[in-house]
Amino acid sequence: MTHLLSVLVQTPAHSPVARPLTYESELLLPPGSLVRVPFGKREMLGVVWDTRDDADAPLMDPGKLRAVAGALEGITPLSATWRQLVGFAADYYQRSLGEVALAALPPQLRDLTPKQMERRIKRHAKAGASDLQESSGTTNSVALSAEQTGAIVQFDTQKGPFLLFGTTGSGKTEVYLHAVQTLLARDPDAQAILMVPEINLTPQLEARVRARFATLYGEDAVVSLHSGMTNPQRLKSWLAAHNGTARIVLGTRMAVFASMPHLQLIVVDEEHDPSYKQQEGARYSARDLAVYRGRLEGAKVMLGSATPSLETWHHSRPAAEGGRYVRLEMPSRIGENSELPFVRRVDMNNQPKKAVFSTPLLEAIRERVARGEQSMVFLNRRGYAPVLACSACDWKSQCPHCSAFRVFHKIDRTLRCHHCGFTERVPRACPECGNVDISPVGRGTEQLEEHLAELLTDVRRPNSVSALFPEGEPVRVARIDADSTRLKGALESQLARVHSGEVDVLVGTQMIAKGHDFRRITLVAAVNPDGALFSSDFRAPERLFSLLMQAAGRAGRDATITSRSEMWIQTFHPAHPLFEALKRHDYPAFAAQQLKEREQAGMPPFSFQALVRADARTQEAAQGFLTTASAAAAVQLADLPGFDQVTLYPAVPMSIQRIADVERAQMLVESPSRAALQRFLSTWHAVLHATRALPECKGLIRWAVDVDPLTI
Ligand code: ADP
Ligand code: ZN
Ligand code: ZN
Repeated sequence: MTHLLSVLVQTPAHSPVARPLTYESELLLPPGSLVRVPFGKREMLGVVWDTRDDADAPLMDPGKLRAVAGALEGITPLSATWRQLVGFAADYYQRSLGEVALAALPPQLRDLTPKQMERRIKRHAKAGASDLQESSGTTNSVALSAEQTGAIVQFDTQKGPFLLFGTTGSGKTEVYLHAVQTLLARDPDAQAILMVPEINLTPQLEARVRARFATLYGEDAVVSLHSGMTNPQRLKSWLAAHNGTARIVLGTRMAVFASMPHLQLIVVDEEHDPSYKQQEGARYSARDLAVYRGRLEGAKVMLGSATPSLETWHHSRPAAEGGRYVRLEMPSRIGENSELPFVRRVDMNNQPKKAVFSTPLLEAIRERVARGEQSMVFLNRRGYAPVLACSACDWKSQCPHCSAFRVFHKIDRTLRCHHCGFTERVPRACPECGNVDISPVGRGTEQLEEHLAELLTDVRRPNSVSALFPEGEPVRVARIDADSTRLKGALESQLARVHSGEVDVLVGTQMIAKGHDFRRITLVAAVNPDGALFSSDFRAPERLFSLLMQAAGRAGRDATITSRSEMWIQTFHPAHPLFEALKRHDYPAFAAQQLKEREQAGMPPFSFQALVRADARTQEAAQGFLTTASAAAAVQLADLPGFDQVTLYPAVPMSIQRIADVERAQMLVESPSRAALQRFLSTWHAVLHATRALPECKGLIRWAVDVDPLTI
């Protein structure tokens, strides 16, 4: 007998065939089976979504149906819960099922023929078997602190989801590892996901997890999943997770979709980190999906941060006030006498105009160098200067393709657009008027590095630092940012130089503020953080506070020097409440003040948002599409339950309105009810499609919905 199957394939985001397609099959393949199916002239990977032998079968024209080309033997079907997770994500983030499902699978599954796949799986099975060794039974865990023990006891005895609210250096990682270890020891099948923001920024963590579990469960027990891996590596990890041999998946946001038959724990480290939000295609939040998945599969979920997102913080308020997460608190740093760094604010109003480094900060850095300690200076702008300008006319280094300036990179004398990549050599004279006096305006990390080296030329290193680096040598300033780490392995080698003590002062972007366990840094300085205080983006203060707390957390991690570690803030607004809270390391006070403002203004987490973005050749076309679709909604969806709770704002240009010659516009949709917003969005979807097909929207290139956007 021939069966009808509905199959998901990877269709372009807005193609008319976004629904599952129907195919015939001699075999009754269960839902979740991976198959190859003909699609147009090609053959593609598909996921069997459903068998449709009864319901819709009579509607299909049997003459037109094509047959499934073959099943991927040896791979067990994806579980019902995995499919439910994909279904939820597609629905919630307004994308097609096929797109979400196929993007959640390793790319090589799509490319390999069934024959190649078979060979891969066999090889993998063999390798897995040979690695199965008796566990030595040794553990390298440490004696837990009282706060760690307290957190773990609560974690073991309650259901969660949990927020592990622990200050930087309080030993959160140890708690995660302990929770994983307890679980794996208790249940020989159990699996866990450990999610981190950007694995390549924290190579230490990966090493730590592997070291901890390889001796217990074999080298194959821990697999990684992130975009820095090759496709064969990713497939290997994925298969190990899928067939249950991998006990721990350590990965970035994509790991939330890992297929795991015995998932019982999901840890999301640094849960506030923006990199958990996918920024293209299905714009999902891996953190939010982790919480959903945990509930779905009965797996425990632990989110951890020293500066939780305000959404998560709000969820973890006391249950009596409506909180849904259990808050586990670890306010102290590990180690005796280890304190958080002392925060100093330098009022830049009292410093010479245009001073990059205030006198006291420079003095403090000199002292550090003389004592053989390290300093870290950060500025969130790479390059030498954000703009190059002519002194005689109006010329500025505008990008011809974007509404943004090209950044001056002195190192190779180029002007580079950080949005579209357009790069040119710096002109010898002003392209407008021929004036040779064109000069940098503002400053980036490259300039900071150069400037610091000049200011510190007369300082000599002491002989006590290390025998490797002789006494009396000039100061070494190093820079770590996206430019200095472009080459493979560059970041690792630069970090190693900092760890070894070769570097005295490290300059960089937020890349250096996150996660690294630098032991000898006793001074961290933010030279110009004011921009975020008055940004139009309501989340900017939240991001700044967490960045500064993280950065401060880099200082004094070694208990022997912790008592003299300092965080310096150069600001024109020293009395700003954000800096007041930072000085006291008081995240709860900062969060309370922010949440109060958000509540008064009806902003998340007290309301729910979605953005519809439109790209077109002209700004009129981009906005026109949004305006038309919005007007159509007002007419066609007026009777939709909850429509009166949804606010559609006017279409506006995006903050960088043109990138690579494409005009961008957006429209904010907001509601105090998540359900009302969801209902509206899923109904509006068809209207947006129909609007796109109108002749007057010809100029539109693409549109997309971003649910729970991180930047407005
Ligand atoms: P967090 O992730 O909260 O910033 P970490 O987990 O990195 O903190 O821990 C900070 C430091 O303290 C690390 O060097 C870690 O090895 C150490 N540490 C954690 N827990 C303990 C403990 N119970 N005893 C001794 N050292 C610990
Ligand atoms: Zn000029
Ligand atoms: Zn550009």
